[in-house]
Amino acid sequence: MGNTPELIVKDLHVSVEGKEILKGLSLAVRKGEIHALMGPNGSGKSTFANTLMGHPRYAVTAGDILFKGESVLGMEADERSRRGLFMAFQYPVAIPGVTVANFLRTALNARLAPAHDGTDGRVPQKKGINPKEFRGLLRERMGLLRMDESFAGRYLNDGFSGGEKKRAEILQMALLKPEIAIMDETDSGLDIDALKVVAQGVNSLAGPELGVLLITHYNRILNYIKPRFVHVMKDGRLQMSGGPELAVELESKGYDWVREPKEVETR
Ligand code: ADP
Ligand code: MG
Repeated sequence: MGNTPELIVKDLHVSVEGKEILKGLSLAVRKGEIHALMGPNGSGKSTFANTLMGHPRYAVTAGDILFKGESVLGMEADERSRRGLFMAFQYPVAIPGVTVANFLRTALNARLAPAHDGTDGRVPQKKGINPKEFRGLLRERMGLLRMDESFAGRYLNDGFSGGEKKRAEILQMALLKPEIAIMDETDSGLDIDALKVVAQGVNSLAGPELGVLLITHYNRILNYIKPRFVHVMKDGRLQMSGGPELAVELESKGYDWVREPKEVETR
């Protein structure tokens, strides 16, 4: 494991439509580490996730995001993904006629493709994986995640349950093999089935080659995934960081317990 964290966020300030949402957020995630980022509704968790992936609506006004030593601020989302940063599609649309396997092969080809030259805006397909190789890889990854092979033949998100949507997301992650994965488990209703899919997926993919930033409002999921680091966000900043015990403490005390950082004590 190298000494420099793959993902370094430095004093990040982000505005959405002129309103400052992130107000100086700093965080570092290494491969091999699982971090949980928790915080009440509206604290800026999703803003942070979207900014990491380069969503154009989120304007970075100060600070930096370094991935493997390089600032990603000038990179489009697809370039960040090619370099090994992952975030699953949050509210994926149903695409009747496109199977899970088709979709995943397209996603993988985009990840493997060299950066396009900017002349036509399209992702070059040249370096893609061939269909036979892809089927082998897909079968292997689905086996690892103990998924039924029939799932790959279904139309993407067409009538998918919450759990099945999460299954597609985890499978995408298993194929793309990112170095750092950002998972925003939206505050609204992940049912227990979906939660278990995510937890089992993360646990089977976790290892020295993967760092995970798991964003969550509730600590329910932390009954199934054990992060090494827990951070609590409030009003666009990290207010506290600690180990797994912090999540337990939050469970009993609630977010109101998180106040301004007590800087006096550390000086
Ligand atoms: P969380 O995920 O922690 O619940 P969000 O990042 O979704 O928090 O929201 C933080 C704040 O940013 C909220 O006040 C929300 O209204 C605002 N916000 C987030 N995204 C947008 C957006 N696309 N347009 C306008 N305001 C937004
Ligand atoms: Mg959110």
